[in-house]
Amino acid sequence: MSNSAGTTGALPDLKSMLARLIAQPSISSASPKWDHSNEAVIRTLADWLEPMGFDVEILDVPGAPGKYNLVATLGQGPGGLVLSGHTDTVPFDDQRWQSDPFTLTERDGRWYGLGTCDMKGFFPLAIEAAREVVGVQLRQPLIILATADEESSMNGARALAEAGRPKARYAVIGEPTGLRPVRMHKGIMMERLRFDGQSGHSSNPSLGRNALEGMHEALTELLALREQWQAKYQNPNFEVQVPTLNLGCIHGGDNPNRICADCELHFDLRPLPGMDMDTLRQAILDRIRPVAERRSLSLLFEPLFDGVPPFETSADAELVRACEKLTGHTAHAVAFATEAPWLQKLGLETLVMGPGSIDQAHQPDEYLELSQLDPTVRILRGLIKQFCL
Ligand SMILES: [Zn+2]
Repeated sequence: MSNSAGTTGALPDLKSMLARLIAQPSISSASPKWDHSNEAVIRTLADWLEPMGFDVEILDVPGAPGKYNLVATLGQGPGGLVLSGHTDTVPFDDQRWQSDPFTLTERDGRWYGLGTCDMKGFFPLAIEAAREVVGVQLRQPLIILATADEESSMNGARALAEAGRPKARYAVIGEPTGLRPVRMHKGIMMERLRFDGQSGHSSNPSLGRNALEGMHEALTELLALREQWQAKYQNPNFEVQVPTLNLGCIHGGDNPNRICADCELHFDLRPLPGMDMDTLRQAILDRIRPVAERRSLSLLFEPLFDGVPPFETSADAELVRACEKLTGHTAHAVAFATEAPWLQKLGLETLVMGPGSIDQAHQPDEYLELSQLDPTVRILRGLIKQFCL
């Protein structure tokens, strides 16, 4: 791997940079036992970017102590290009790793370590690409964005969208796509539906209100809605071309000879681009509420998490065209969700494209192929040239 010393000779080489990021645990998780601060990773990036001439801002994520976003800006102007990545990783299964997940280990032409491909590896490569324009007068700014909690709540991206930061024209999120441009993904919703009735002796149904029977009706309604949505919405860009609704788990009641007093269902919905999450929730509620009313059950319907909206950037967008040209691949759709909807909400033309494969993400022995390094830097430099110089 070539490493031009350039004007920022003080920077470590690519491998040392990534080794340092990998050595700093920054797991994000809904489970407090796993959850870490991402401060060390953010400070490390700031330490590298500041001497390069970037104007570095570290922003708190409201309501998430110890979590930060970083916005580093080189140059000035209203437009500009954002290279964005998340600083956190998922938890890991120690027993199943062949080497220490926090020690960057090279073998078989790969760098192993937790976060190598998803997606700490993107930062040293973006920095390497940026080195070329250090000291150069940019027409539009180059912004390196590092976010918190992408793997858990997406609260870092949410906070940025609320704060209206960063301002720019284009954004590339360096999630592992094998350097193929991605311009759409489905959304993710996880919902809780609960009926509470009243228990009573099973010999006389009038003694209680059966939550499980209510749920039986609700399930029928949900499956009918799914059929409607799948008939109405199809997108041939996706491997699964229709929106999905998965009944994930159900719990209710306690004994065969008691009227079931409570029943709770958790389900997952994956809307296609063009489907609005609030509208979907309302449609569900409109079907479920009459069931609850008819059976005098109390109803709780709420999201298990805030959800990720579906994302789509138009096939003829300038950034899509530019990335297709630089990579030689047509932009496509993926099955995983990203922070793209929030960057898009900020008015940025957004695309997902980065080194490494999603097949290695969230896996023991996560790695980044060394063969991805040079092409990544080349592509990012091409984008910087087109959108900043
Ligand atoms: Zn990721």
